[in-house]
Amino acid sequence: MKQRPRVVILGGGFAGIYAAMELEKAVRKGEDIEIVLVNKENYFVFQPMLPEVISGTIGILDVVSPIRRLLPRTDLHVRDVEEIDLEKKLVITSPGFRPHPHVIPFDHLVLALGSVTDFRGLRGLPEHAFPFKNLGDALNLRNHVIRALDEASIERHDETLRKQLLTFVVAGGGFSGVEVVAELNDFVREVARSYPGLDPREIRIVLLHGGERILPEVAERLALFAQDILMRRGVEIRLKTVLEAATGDAAILRGGETIPTKTLVSTVPSFPHPLLEALPLAKGKNRRLLANRHLQAEGRTDVWALGDCAVVPQTDGTPSPPTAQHAIRQAAVAAHNIVATLHGRALRTFDFKGLGKMGALGHRSAIAELPGGIKVSGFLAWWIWRSIYLVKLPGWGRRLRVASAWSLDLLLPAELVQLKLGGSRGVTQEHFEPGQEVFRQGDLGDRVYLVMSGQAEVWRSVDGVEECLGQLEPGDWFGEMALLNETTRGATVRCTKAMDALILPKSEFSVLAANLPDLRRSFERVMEGRRGGAGMGVGGKRDSV
Ligand SMILES: Cc1cc2nc3c(=O)[nH]c(=O)nc-3n(C[C@H](O)[C@H](O)[C@H](O)COP(=O)(O)OP(=O)(O)OC[C@H]3O[C@@H](n4cnc5c(N)ncnc54)[C@H](O)[C@@H]3O)c2cc1C
Repeated sequence: MKQRPRVVILGGGFAGIYAAMELEKAVRKGEDIEIVLVNKENYFVFQPMLPEVISGTIGILDVVSPIRRLLPRTDLHVRDVEEIDLEKKLVITSPGFRPHPHVIPFDHLVLALGSVTDFRGLRGLPEHAFPFKNLGDALNLRNHVIRALDEASIERHDETLRKQLLTFVVAGGGFSGVEVVAELNDFVREVARSYPGLDPREIRIVLLHGGERILPEVAERLALFAQDILMRRGVEIRLKTVLEAATGDAAILRGGETIPTKTLVSTVPSFPHPLLEALPLAKGKNRRLLANRHLQAEGRTDVWALGDCAVVPQTDGTPSPPTAQHAIRQAAVAAHNIVATLHGRALRTFDFKGLGKMGALGHRSAIAELPGGIKVSGFLAWWIWRSIYLVKLPGWGRRLRVASAWSLDLLLPAELVQLKLGGSRGVTQEHFEPGQEVFRQGDLGDRVYLVMSGQAEVWRSVDGVEECLGQLEPGDWFGEMALLNETTRGATVRCTKAMDALILPKSEFSVLAANLPDLRRSFERVMEGRRGGAGMGVGGKRDSV
């Protein structure tokens, strides 16, 4: 029996979902093709509304739609794509319940994996900055912000910590950065009223942007309007300011200035999915895949590249901007051309110029650049923004939910529930800058550290006089004494050369130490050595590092 041609779509964002929708239309008209879509999650995220999850203006589930309901004729694989073999025409996805490889052969492949916020090479950002791309990011950030406010409201002794907890920094003054900072600002300032221990004047919301004005994507007049309105609502806008590094306590700017904070969000820099880097396909600016105006990856007739992971030329030759509206139109052209290729028919050309640009600024205001060069700002722009996105949301059920959430938001105060989803975070990594304290003498011992790179010194204070007990180098463990002895830290560890450390929380360390006698013994030998004067010689029964 002749196999149906199989179209495999990688990525269930705007590009992938709309390509599958168009292909399903062709199937409904009698086209005999098999559509497979691989996506990490079983839902589609409507990213333009994601910032509203921070404030809870709309429900967490209102920005997502289950893919199976959107695409009833598509075979959905909720998996991670792990490998793409263009020569053998195969896609390999991550294992499911059983660890066996899962291989999907294809006749046509649609690459629609979007972009990733990639902090590689930026000191401390992978460990300490919040990205903002998917539902998990939005939820994490919301939970973290509520936790920071809860902590600040009861932190009455440590002024520095209180300042860090009440300062929120967003890096990137493009559309997503501006929308995030606007929502964050509205949310934090509104809910702060529910905390008797917080003075709103202590709250600091900062937007960092490398350019001369925020929103370089829109006309200057609108960008200045946005700038002015955000500043009036209390957002501190730092232009020509580049974020260079981060620690768990501060955002570090180029030039050395630091902003004390426990909350740093970065919407930049964005790159195509790392999987695509390894493919033998032509790449353009920012490592995105080069596509032609038929949406074929350069040099291929069976591989299609669209959405944020591709450089797709517009009519005038300039690359399409990475927006949902472009991804949707590219998806329609690609789907049409896949079917046309199967029948040897003429291909269609991508010919979309964009319908305008819009960005929400919170507090019922927005900016919009509409077709025909019409520029609108303020409440009217906000109303247009909401109406357009409501219509664009896939499915009537979602639209109804969002419309009612928006209506209720006009009457009710912002939702302040912190959804604690996970237990322990397991092994994590942290970055420290010179001068930063990893922990202080007298702190509770809550974790063990392994130095991966950089250096730190151990200092003990006796009757106000500090003495250096030793130096920590890559490969050294520290922090275990206070955990094994169930005591407080017996010394202060201070970073002296930019340091990355692996962190094992107390609960995991205790399980390992209790069940791996060799591990416990090796830590005890290190402790003995330190007590005996070798190495740092810190500790004692009551206070330990
Ligand atoms: C906060 C924010 C606000 C925005 N606001 C607007 C706006 O107002 N207007 C506008 O036009 N655009 C907006 N955008 C941009 C728009 O959302 C993107 O241009 C659009 O989502 C691109 O679609 P895509 O399909 O290429 O990528 P994405 O939508 O990012 O989809 C990529 C998909 O691939 C999946 N994936 C990635 N890696 C793997 C893997 N290894 N295995 C399986 N699946 C994988 C992801 O889970 C995701 O579902 C906004 C973006 C953000 C982040």
